[in-house]
Amino acid sequence: MTSTISNNPSDVAKGKRDAARWAVASNTGLLLMKIVVGALTGSVGVLAEIVNSGADLVGSLIVYLSVRVSDEPPDETHAYGHGKIENLSGIATATLILTGGCYAIWQAVRQLIRPQPLQHLNWALGTMAVSAVVNFTVSQYLLRRGRDLDSPALTADGHHLKTDVVTSIGVVAGLALVRLTGFAQWDSLAALGVAFLILYVGYSLARDAVFTLSDRVLPPTEVAILENVLRSNKEVLDFHKLRTRKSGSHRHADVHVMIADTHTFVEAHRLTEDLEDQMRDALPNLHPIIHMEPYEDEVAHQKAYHAMENKSP
Ligand SMILES: [Zn+2]
Ligand SMILES: [Zn+2]
Ligand SMILES: [Zn+2]
Repeated sequence: MTSTISNNPSDVAKGKRDAARWAVASNTGLLLMKIVVGALTGSVGVLAEIVNSGADLVGSLIVYLSVRVSDEPPDETHAYGHGKIENLSGIATATLILTGGCYAIWQAVRQLIRPQPLQHLNWALGTMAVSAVVNFTVSQYLLRRGRDLDSPALTADGHHLKTDVVTSIGVVAGLALVRLTGFAQWDSLAALGVAFLILYVGYSLARDAVFTLSDRVLPPTEVAILENVLRSNKEVLDFHKLRTRKSGSHRHADVHVMIADTHTFVEAHRLTEDLEDQMRDALPNLHPIIHMEPYEDEVAHQKAYHAMENKSP
């Protein structure tokens, strides 16, 4: 894994803030357009899209505020940094999205049971088409920035906007069918489709945030990268208790490394620093801690004191 982005923390923080600002600006514009058009037409498809854009807007604002806090360096009260604030904001955003999705389902079912005729269909069609194009452009931008800056909040926002492209197209299709057939129920069906996508996005966001907040291990591919660093060093005779977790965009790893007993204390420390550097180079935003053990002495200790426990040393 390589990154061309500067590792300067203030550059990264500024990049995240700029990207989050763009999302807020485009969402605000789209939301205002949809509120006007939704009131004119009475379309529940457009209403579902208002819920969608509204959740986006509040979500983007939460992201914008949370990355400012989560990128603060460690201080006296938060020695491991503030990364989990970013995941907590993910929970808040997911709750909003799920609530909005349920509201949209309720409105769509009402319109399905007792359909009201729609007005000014062309305005609704044009607005939703513009929304699809704008959301596609902004989502591609957010996904690129989220990947470059390794920000889960920006990436989540980008993925959400990508689903908005699909929902806008779905609502356009529903409105077009209403126009062709005269049945307002097509609009309700499009709204239901949008609402279920909203629920799915909320669920995914909540799941990822819970994974990180509950100290779930890093993905197997990332753990393998760290194991490779340790295995490829010939001074490392063995290692165990490799533990990993995430906090916002920060990764934490600690591991017991076994080396020859003949190493001096100075040599062992030099090797520790080298291995930590190599691990940091291999995985961005990694904070490794290595616990060194003399191989023969530790094995003898295990035999003498832990033979009955049948556990890893
Ligand atoms: Zn150990
Ligand atoms: Zn040191
Ligand atoms: Zn022991």
